[in-house]
Amino acid sequence: MDLKTKKDYLSDTVKKMKPSGIRRFFDLASQMDNVISLGVGEPDFVTPWHVIEASFHSLEKGYTAYTANAGLLALREEISGYLENNFNVKYDPEEEVIVTVGASQAIDIALRAIINPGDEVIVVEPCFVSYAPSVELAGGVPVSVHTKSEDHFKLKPEQLERAITSKTKAVIFCNPNNPTGTALTEQELAAVAEIIEKHDLILLSDEIYAELTFDHKPVSLTSLSSMQERTILISGFSKAFAMTGWRLGYVAGPKDIIKGMLKIHQYTIMCAPTMAQYGALEALQNGRENVRHMVQSYRQRRHFIVDSLNEIGLDCYLPGGAFYAFPSIKSTGLTSEEFAEKLLLAEGVAVVPGNVFGESGEGHVRCSYATSIEQLQEAVTRMDRFMKSL
Ligand code: PMP
Repeated sequence: MDLKTKKDYLSDTVKKMKPSGIRRFFDLASQMDNVISLGVGEPDFVTPWHVIEASFHSLEKGYTAYTANAGLLALREEISGYLENNFNVKYDPEEEVIVTVGASQAIDIALRAIINPGDEVIVVEPCFVSYAPSVELAGGVPVSVHTKSEDHFKLKPEQLERAITSKTKAVIFCNPNNPTGTALTEQELAAVAEIIEKHDLILLSDEIYAELTFDHKPVSLTSLSSMQERTILISGFSKAFAMTGWRLGYVAGPKDIIKGMLKIHQYTIMCAPTMAQYGALEALQNGRENVRHMVQSYRQRRHFIVDSLNEIGLDCYLPGGAFYAFPSIKSTGLTSEEFAEKLLLAEGVAVVPGNVFGESGEGHVRCSYATSIEQLQEAVTRMDRFMKSL
């Protein structure tokens, strides 16, 4: 049905916005049979049963009303304890934590709370597809910093510094990274923190993959130097806790910023879904063993996929975190889009072209290894056949 108005009804910002490149591949893949998807950025594990049960029980007990705008205090207390135990950062659950509808909503309200029209926000690419559009929706101007393939996509402090202007307000940075799987060491993070402090910027630190750090202890940028005073820490339950569909995340930060974010949150969302909050509470209280088990499984799959990709001629470094391998496809002479489309049509394997995550992702494809070893084996067999056919 067409809208019955001759008015130009869409906002300029929305008209300018490109649909996510990931979706296009999902749509293509969904029309085909026997597709193995290494495309989706979500765990293949079902949420552990005790979490599901806790959510059921909350409904049985009749906890079906709104919670406090910022979320159940008990959950905020657990989040605060979790951040202190795992990342050595302290937050006041009453004033410095909000439970959100996924990390996605946390990113949105963080940006809307701090941006004035025309403020620049540095987006470190390749990155999660929502960052730049979210900056634009908030009235800001995204400024890309392109990490490089030859550095295994590690952000260099001098690259960050070069992008800073008098209009820069904030930096949005994800570690470990989606799509590159790159995880910076504490020393590397400290060098990034130094630039952010030197230029008096705000950091939006997306740490949703922090638990999935394989080669060293996870480090929160918030815990370094005096970064906590200028950092909005964004995280959630989707990845490490296998809860993507529950739509539950959180944000922690200095109380004035959190107060500002809460104003937007209360007018636009009211509160995150109550039954999902009860599930998350159980996940934090009793779910550590399950997380350890899932992380161990990703660790094994990581080695399998990286070794296999290298064997079939796709150069791939060992990613330090998240659940993505980001091999180079440059040797094929194809662009990332061509490679992904041909591979899907010829062999029914869905990967995501690296350029959808930013221009510096061109020449790579993202392969999510959050899928069973059997599926990964079959995917690699098909990819090998595809490589030989080129
Ligand atoms: N940040 C990153 C880096 C992500 O990869 C994702 C999900 N793909 C999100 C945030 C959003 O997560 P959520 O499901 O919590 O909204």
